[in-house]
Amino acid sequence: MTNDIRSRIANLSDQLHFHIYRYHVLNDPVIGDSEYDRMFRDLQDLEAEHPQYARADSPTQRVGSDLSGDFAKVAHPAPILSLANAFDEADLRHWEERNLRLLPSGSRLRYVLQPKLDGLAIVISYENGELIRAATRGNGVTGDDVTANVKTIRSAPLRIPLDPAAGPAPARLVVRGEILFHKDSFLELNREQAAQGLPAYVNARNTASGSLKQKDSRETAKRKLTAYIYDIVDSQGIELESEWQILRYLKSMGFKVLADASRCSSLDEAIEQAAAWEARRDDLPFEIDGLVLKVDELSAARELGVAGKDPRGAIAFKFPAEEAATTLLGITIGVGRTGKLTPTAQLEPVFIGGVTVSSASLHNYDQVAALDIRQGDRVVIKRSGDVIPYVIGPVIGARKGDETPIQPPQLCPFCVAEVVQPDGAIDWYCPNQICPERIMRALEFFVSRGAMDIEGMGPQTIAALIEERLIQDEADIFALQAEPLLALEGFAEKKVENLLSSIEAAKARPFEQVLTSLGIDGVGSTVAGLLTDNFASMADLQATAELISKAEASFLRNTLPLLPAAAADDSDVEKLRQRLRHPTTELAPRYMQGAELGPRLERLLRPLQLPVESLTLVAAQLQQLIDACRPLHTIEGLGPILARNIVDWFTDAHNQTVLKKMQAAGVNMKAEEKKVSGTALTGQTFVLTGTMSAPRGEIKALVEANGGKVTGGVSKKTSFVVAGDSPGSKVEKAEKNGVPILSEDELRALLGE
Ligand SMILES: [Zn+2]
Repeated sequence: MTNDIRSRIANLSDQLHFHIYRYHVLNDPVIGDSEYDRMFRDLQDLEAEHPQYARADSPTQRVGSDLSGDFAKVAHPAPILSLANAFDEADLRHWEERNLRLLPSGSRLRYVLQPKLDGLAIVISYENGELIRAATRGNGVTGDDVTANVKTIRSAPLRIPLDPAAGPAPARLVVRGEILFHKDSFLELNREQAAQGLPAYVNARNTASGSLKQKDSRETAKRKLTAYIYDIVDSQGIELESEWQILRYLKSMGFKVLADASRCSSLDEAIEQAAAWEARRDDLPFEIDGLVLKVDELSAARELGVAGKDPRGAIAFKFPAEEAATTLLGITIGVGRTGKLTPTAQLEPVFIGGVTVSSASLHNYDQVAALDIRQGDRVVIKRSGDVIPYVIGPVIGARKGDETPIQPPQLCPFCVAEVVQPDGAIDWYCPNQICPERIMRALEFFVSRGAMDIEGMGPQTIAALIEERLIQDEADIFALQAEPLLALEGFAEKKVENLLSSIEAAKARPFEQVLTSLGIDGVGSTVAGLLTDNFASMADLQATAELISKAEASFLRNTLPLLPAAAADDSDVEKLRQRLRHPTTELAPRYMQGAELGPRLERLLRPLQLPVESLTLVAAQLQQLIDACRPLHTIEGLGPILARNIVDWFTDAHNQTVLKKMQAAGVNMKAEEKKVSGTALTGQTFVLTGTMSAPRGEIKALVEANGGKVTGGVSKKTSFVVAGDSPGSKVEKAEKNGVPILSEDELRALLGE
């Protein structure tokens, strides 16, 4: 019995150490927070009952650490404590009873209740009102200095008070808060990732942590992080008596505090409010994993003191898990319209957050390998908001040894083509363009709302038409005739008539929608809009893609033979070689802006020790490629990977055939004629930047209505840059290229307004 307990304590300690490392050091947890909390609490309970077996290195004896080697270390003025957890009402009542026993008899406690943010803890120091330092929580005693990065977060004031009327700045104020993504900012970040052809971020908290730990604060600035402040760690020159006063004081200084914090006159009141919080959890702008309940009177909280690493006067009330562990029964593989293989976990059904979950996303095989998820594993599933449930990781401790590793399939399960993993890609693909599953998915997408929007063409109809060999690609839809359709089962006259008329109507969809419907990897309606803003027709876009492809082929043909014979041990040379093999993504974007390609390229290629004639040739070839790429690559919001996808799509023979058939069938492939009412700007090219009196689209229409052209990137061909409020880097580029800069008023003056 005693040996049992001793080994259970040792076992739990070991497991928790592993998970702490995954979570805090690698930023890559393999179990969910609630699973971790449960294990942690089990260990705490066992140690409390059997202190003689508690190990000196027990995870309960130390706080977690998010320290990483890249940053200077900062000592906090006071320990940044963590909170003990309560999981139900009984835990809360027990907590209050224990506290009351420690206080003079007859004491009554009031509480402040606020949401527990699921972000990254931060400690910010102000001296005489000026932000002088910001540090992560680290191990609670020492943190990483992330001052430069925190300064880019707009809700973290650089100077307090924001409103001078709030009174003088305190001589010294060290505050504690949390940095996180609002749900909509996180979604937006993932939309941008998608537009760049990059994989989506999965976990908002980890992404916030990663964003704050960028070495280059400009990278942090690009992420829309928010800083909430809720506590004072240390101060000089202010006297406050309650938690409630602290929150009000922080607010008066200009910090973003949790607007919905409430003061409760009793624990009953707090418990009642907690239920309401839980009910509206999904409606909040940020993720929360519970509530924080603090004793309001600071004098009482001080008297209660600290137990281990947790202050007795505060507790985290965790919401029931939206995570659960279950068994991974198997993997099914989906093939999308681009051929991408998506593994899905088939699970023993489990009840999470009010629904039964029997399958969950595994994202991709890279993720499966990174998490070491095996067939037969116990896995932890997370479900939050409307996100598809996903697998967080295996419960390593539950392994029996007969679990089998999961590998990507060698053949497409639908067409048995050999699957491929393109250079640099995370995903595996079925490369077969006539794979029935790919065609099915492509057609489903093609007819969907937002794409060609063909009513009456549901998945069953598509499947029937493929089965009868009436359609084999998107363009075949436009060649459908009444006769063969009427011969199909379930296709009455009325139904056929409606279907044919909605197909006819689809031919006139706007160019942007037609482009979206092609299903080019990463080209949704937003990117399609960017393309149609810059290309007047499908033919223009195709011509540009072909030009780029030709210039790239020429670059490769002419420059690769110049490379010196492989020196396998020289990694710099090998890296350069790789770059030269992918010039449109690795070289052209980098050298597109700015003058004097020659000397810059020479610096890059120095390790190759090429003779001067070779350098000149590489530069000439690259210049040719850059010129070809410019119309596509200078579109703002369109990254090199996406440009690559577009070029690949348009230069593919199968896709070209489909496009030709669509064109012949009368599908619209041109942007709408711009209505030109004046000629004041004819022949001039404009670039717009910054905030103007009207939306960018309206200003653009105004320029175009007067014969001008609007493009995304500044080049020597740009006639004017029009700069509104807080313009971006384009103004600098304009200055460098000698392009004149106009204000919005000056633009309007040109139009005689
Ligand atoms: Zn296939």
